[in-house]
Amino acid sequence: MLNVRNLTRSYGDFVAVDDVSFSIKKGEIIGLLGHNGAGKTTIMKMISGYLEADRGDVSLDGISLRNKPKLLQQHLGYLPENLPVYPEMKVAEYLDYAADLKGLTGEYKIAEIKRTIKATDLSAKLLAPIQTLSRGFKQRVGVAQAILGQPKLLILDEPTNGLDPEQTQHMRQLIREIAENATVILSTHIMQEVNALCDRVLVLKSGQLVLDEKLAQLKNSQTLIVETNCVDHDLISAISGVKKVVVEREGKLSVEISKQAFMETIASEISKVVINSDHQLFALYRQKRDLESIFNQLNNEDFKPLNRSEEVSDAA
Ligand code: ATP
Repeated sequence: MLNVRNLTRSYGDFVAVDDVSFSIKKGEIIGLLGHNGAGKTTIMKMISGYLEADRGDVSLDGISLRNKPKLLQQHLGYLPENLPVYPEMKVAEYLDYAADLKGLTGEYKIAEIKRTIKATDLSAKLLAPIQTLSRGFKQRVGVAQAILGQPKLLILDEPTNGLDPEQTQHMRQLIREIAENATVILSTHIMQEVNALCDRVLVLKSGQLVLDEKLAQLKNSQTLIVETNCVDHDLISAISGVKKVVVEREGKLSVEISKQAFMETIASEISKVVINSDHQLFALYRQKRDLESIFNQLNNEDFKPLNRSEEVSDAA
């Protein structure tokens, strides 16, 4: 279990990450989303210990980053946006060096290097200097170093950046396998990636966490679509819990439900009023939202900061 509590970081007067708290269970893959500059990289750097937080703490299975940074980092794999590698180093040398940095030794170190080379399909490039690699191969080296030592927490910033479609599929499969025994945070602008991999999404807006929700729930909107020949929309507007009725086209209404109301109860009320007024109900279903449209609505006022002004208790 990863616990992030009240993380805050400023650059000068500018607050890049503002009081962010969340928890992630083992086995979960979380999508960390937000527009450019929202604070994703800053959070990932703080969780991985590359950047010190001004306030707050991170703990992994009860190990606090503030109190035991080295211990926590042994259980962590991080693929940053730009991997700081030595360009002249050969791939094999670099992985050996990365394994040393993670404290891997002996047979286990060798087995782990072999495993990651196989998992990222790097065997043909082991003797190539990193600076001669294509972008996609450099990315694979980054992923290989991140998964060395089978980390309990894997943080991946744009993991499929630069990969060809075949490698992208391969990488997704690899992430799923790792997530069976780890917690994974994935930051990406590719919504297909989020759809394919993530159980839950966290959305940042101007450094604040504005959404923390399961993907399946997120896709279920607060809007019902009603297909009917009933033109007296006031009948539907009058139902308690209905916020707004919009005519999408002739015979198709979208009915926005207030957040507190029960969708099922209102759906049943709508069917009653339509049928009791001698009209026909052709279809009644919950509107599905896609991630792109949710993301595009980010600047909308519905997205207010979560977890503000309270110290989140230790629940690791
Ligand atoms: P992107 O999607 O573009 O990678 P991001 O969500 O990862 O963006 P961050 O890189 O965390 O965003 O940056 C958050 C904010 O902090 C931005 O406004 C950025 O300009 C600012 N920032 C980041 N690093 C620094 C720094 N070293 N000095 C000053 N400001 C910084």
